[in-house]
Amino acid sequence: MTITTTRTVQHWVGGASFAGTSTRTAPVYNPALGVVAREVSLATKADLDEAVAVAKAALPAWAATPVGKRQQIMFAFRERLNARKEELAAILTAEHGKVTSDALGEIARGLEVVELATSIPSLLKGEYSEQVSTGVDVYSIKQPVGVVGIISPFNFPAMVPLWFFPLAIAAGNTVVLKPSEKDPSAAIWMAELLTECGLPDGVLNVVNGDKESVDALLDNPDVAAISFVGSTPIAKYIYERGTANGKRVQALGGAKNHMLVLPDADLDLVADSAVNAGFGSAGERCMAISVVVAVEPVADELIAKITERVGTLTVGDGTRNCDMGPLITKEHRDKVAGYLDTATVDGAEIVVDGRGIEIDGDENGFWLGPTLIDKVPTDSAVYTDEIFGPVLSVVRVQSYEEGLALINGSRYGNGTAIFTNDGGAARRFQTEVTVGMVGINVPIPVPVGYFSFGGWKDSLFGDTKAYGSQAIHFFTREKAITSRWLDPSHGGLNLGFPQNG
Ligand code: NAD
Repeated sequence: MTITTTRTVQHWVGGASFAGTSTRTAPVYNPALGVVAREVSLATKADLDEAVAVAKAALPAWAATPVGKRQQIMFAFRERLNARKEELAAILTAEHGKVTSDALGEIARGLEVVELATSIPSLLKGEYSEQVSTGVDVYSIKQPVGVVGIISPFNFPAMVPLWFFPLAIAAGNTVVLKPSEKDPSAAIWMAELLTECGLPDGVLNVVNGDKESVDALLDNPDVAAISFVGSTPIAKYIYERGTANGKRVQALGGAKNHMLVLPDADLDLVADSAVNAGFGSAGERCMAISVVVAVEPVADELIAKITERVGTLTVGDGTRNCDMGPLITKEHRDKVAGYLDTATVDGAEIVVDGRGIEIDGDENGFWLGPTLIDKVPTDSAVYTDEIFGPVLSVVRVQSYEEGLALINGSRYGNGTAIFTNDGGAARRFQTEVTVGMVGINVPIPVPVGYFSFGGWKDSLFGDTKAYGSQAIHFFTREKAITSRWLDPSHGGLNLGFPQNG
């Protein structure tokens, strides 16, 4: 593996490292040290088009490869990835900053999808109806859609690519993956590993880059489908440009996830859950809880319990057993910290201030400690924006109905959770809330690999979620075949529309 020794991260095309033609690069930081650890090459349109051409050339043979052989490569990938997950976790911590245990958790959730991909023969089975008309049978088959483009965000450099490429590849497609330029090495590492597992050259290609390569992917007529995960404005743009170019597109966007706490909830469980879901991965998760909606009279007691727990958290270098690492870049840290000023101006109360936190690590890292803000006005940008950092807001409401209306009024609909011991209230919530993933006493309800992941409203553009059965639908084209093997009783000329008979 070349990652740790290569100063400029290149691309992976046709089963080998690919330098491309670009002279543009971007810095890749070690956010815990606050230094540029390496550069990443930013592909040109020509580089991207070259990768698509390679993927297109690899498609016929791969699509024709027996499904059992494709399955075996997924089994091998699952075993090797699991055996070497610490190596990948170290790459994630070095470039993203998340702590080692969290990096391993991300890989574990990605492995779930690889495990699902090992079931590909069952997942690709079609349907068959015998004798729909005299001597006529109808059956359906699922064929690969073609070359799939995957564009992923910085916050899950391993898991989000793993949501897509194992199932896309197992279904017989070839792939061009464009990871986040902020932490590009994990994708290259995984592509290299898959090559070692026997994946033919050209089936999985990784092109690093920015808008230029994304636009080239969206405009290339040989790309049939796009799976995107990132912020809402870019997700919308990807969806619009990709579909305008005739591609099928699933574009998962940003989030603002609320946790509704009813007065009968176990407040110790709620406090643990709010801290874990609010500050894990420094809040840089699309399923992070960013708003606690406390139905009175629980707010004061709950805030005291959360504050007590936050006081025990350690912030520092992800390799040192800390609870929370740095943010991804200095710019992002400063932007997140800016919301604390906004909170004060807008009349909210900062209960725990993460600025000036004591850290276990280099003082130049991109640090911001866990922050808790009470009485956040719902017209404040602190409430309406996706902050994407370790900032947990509390909004106090008087009833379930008021809390529900708040959640349903959000432009986002990724995840939400209700905490209560009232089964009837929880059941009502699961029916009434306009959010794609719902937790009942579960703070981060990321569905397991054999269900599907995706939000509603501005959290997902397109109608197909990630992984699970919806991925099989997205990565295949169904063909329905009506067949009759002629016998002496065939019906002769009949210009009427075919019908049962
Ligand atoms: P981002 O939108 O900035 O970038 C995502 C990808 O789009 C990257 O590969 C980037 O290179 C590319 N990109 C960025 N700007 C572009 C442009 N103008 N034109 C074309 N391509 C562009 O997102 P991010 O900051 O990397 O990730 C964080 C965001 O992702 C958050 O909003 C988070 O909620 C979201 N996210 C959502 C999910 C989900 O499942 N819904 C999961 C993880 C992250």
